[in-house]
Amino acid sequence: MIKKCDHSGCTKAGTCRAPKTRDLKEYWFFCQEHAAEYNKNWNYYANMTPGEIEAEWERETFGAPLKDKNSANADAADYAKFINDFLTGRASFDNASTRRTLPGPVMTALKTLDLPVTATLREVGARYRALAKKYHPDTAADKKSAADKFAKIADAYETLKKHFAKK
Ligand SMILES: [Zn+2]
Repeated sequence: MIKKCDHSGCTKAGTCRAPKTRDLKEYWFFCQEHAAEYNKNWNYYANMTPGEIEAEWERETFGAPLKDKNSANADAADYAKFINDFLTGRASFDNASTRRTLPGPVMTALKTLDLPVTATLREVGARYRALAKKYHPDTAADKKSAADKFAKIADAYETLKKHFAKK
């Protein structure tokens, strides 16, 4: 019997295998289209632990893992604030006082990460890390919807990184 594609709502046959975890013991079964999407968006981080994602993000953003105590503390404070804002729905996308005109994909990416238009790269990174941990397949409670969310978050982060690189 052929399994259906594991992507929520998809009714095609799940003929393509994609690893769920780094030990390669469990697999998703996707149709070709969703396997391609999964590989593009998620596979890179899916094979890393949340700790490794964090170290990788620090390397990407700062060129090295954070060592400086002050910036590490500031980061922890950012992290706590963003988590709190996120959980309480207080993120201020719609009431940002200084509205700037940003390209559509950048606005969409900010909305996905629930950030204001004034967000800095540091804020984007902190939010991304918080959400990447929350929706990481190793730690998320609902793994299937977490996979979708994780892919969207990773996409949004890529868009924002490119946007900041152009500045
Ligand atoms: Zn599918």
